[in-house]
Amino acid sequence: MIRAPRVGVLALQGDVREHDRALRAAGAEPVHVRRVADLDGLDGLILPGGESTTISRLLGLFDLIEPLRSAVADGLPVYGSCAGMILLASAVLDGRPDQQGIGGLDIVVRRNAFGRQVDSFETDLAFTGVGDVHAVFIRAPWVESAGEAVQVLARVPEGNDPGGSPVAGRVVAVRQGALLATSFHPELTGDDRVHALFVDIVRRARG
Ligand code: GLN
Repeated sequence: MIRAPRVGVLALQGDVREHDRALRAAGAEPVHVRRVADLDGLDGLILPGGESTTISRLLGLFDLIEPLRSAVADGLPVYGSCAGMILLASAVLDGRPDQQGIGGLDIVVRRNAFGRQVDSFETDLAFTGVGDVHAVFIRAPWVESAGEAVQVLARVPEGNDPGGSPVAGRVVAVRQGALLATSFHPELTGDDRVHALFVDIVRRARG
């Protein structure tokens, strides 16, 4: 029998255990990644939500930035949720000047984009290839712009202007090759279909 895909979960900060559970439900074996050696033998990697400036600082401290950039360049499938989306983005608006990312995903993201008044909100949205998904946003970024190679998978639907500013239509899920990113947190809802999509990307990349 083919072994279950081994999917790393970056475990420096953020909601790690929820991703473990969702990965297991999707048929993958989660592996916590804290140092460079933990990247050996992974079939995929999840960058969880948390605080991107903190995760960025810890990535620097643990000398993980360059190895992760190389892994992405070598085609490792990576899924970034919220802060993880920020880490994968090629450019960040409203970031901290010293904030270092991993990059590889040709998007510009805006941090804390949904406004100060509303830290968090939830909505149902249509997710291409998955179906209707209940999306939980926590001080989330949105995708301000995306390159041609990037496929938009979900947008905020009409009637959702939580911060008083127009947010309907904003891009909140994207894919570029083996890189997947969502502004929201599917791991918090007990619905494992977005993780199943990622595990499918991982399986296909293994061939
Ligand atoms: N606002 C956070 C950041 O800038 C992301 C929030 C999250 O991951 N839930 O990193």
